[in-house]
Amino acid sequence: MKVLVPVKRVIDYNVKVRVKADNSGVELANVKMAMNPFDEIAVEEALRLKEAGGADEVVAVSIGPSQNQETIRTALAMGADRGIHIEAPHEIEPLAVAKLLKEVVAREEPGLVFVGKQAIDDDCNQTGQMLAALLGWAQGTFVSGIEIKGDSAAVVREVDGGLEHLEVKMPAVVTVDLRLNEPRYASLPNIMKAKKKPLDSLSAADLGVDIEPRLTITRVEEPPAREAGIRVSDVGDLVDKLKNEAKVI
Ligand code: AMP
Repeated sequence: MKVLVPVKRVIDYNVKVRVKADNSGVELANVKMAMNPFDEIAVEEALRLKEAGGADEVVAVSIGPSQNQETIRTALAMGADRGIHIEAPHEIEPLAVAKLLKEVVAREEPGLVFVGKQAIDDDCNQTGQMLAALLGWAQGTFVSGIEIKGDSAAVVREVDGGLEHLEVKMPAVVTVDLRLNEPRYASLPNIMKAKKKPLDSLSAADLGVDIEPRLTITRVEEPPAREAGIRVSDVGDLVDKLKNEAKVI
């Protein structure tokens, strides 16, 4: 079985994101980029499945400008076998990403697609669900545990107030959550080896998908600065302020 893992290139989670001076978006010039952290978890899970004999190939796919090939190389250095880059000139909305991935699925015929539960730049949390709907496949979302049982995958979902255990028929789309695993670091020899692994390039037009945005970003703003706190003298003072000033009790 093949596992397909979409990997998005996003601003590194350690970077403090800044809004552009004209409020048209966030500053990307000279900003450190990295693989979306949930996608690292997805790559790790696909590799663990392969190492346990449950999969025979892990294919990483990324949609975006040519720099996205670096993100694919990171996945290859972690241990993925092959990469597919779909060239796209601008930010792609989740529905277009899902449509492109559907075409990749039609070509590659994976048994599982491991998607990040959300991209930390747009926080959409839409792509995996849309892909499952477009394919008519089962989906397991917010997954923190997975075990393959014949032609089904037993997944543990992180839901409000607890864990939900589901069995999804494969082929399926699984969106991975934080607690699924701890991704490995790529070793230097594997980074070198990754340079020689196959990486195909396609365009959205090759796949016959219209990727024009449907939404217009009208304005992006920094969140309001937090006001400084105050020190209260004792518990009585605190209760008084909560009751009479903040009016929360
Ligand atoms: P989102 O729905 O935007 O929060 O993204 C959820 C997941 O979809 C990400 O964690 C990735 O696995 C996948 N994804 C979204 N955009 C892309 C992209 N441009 N290239 C590859 N994968 C993507």
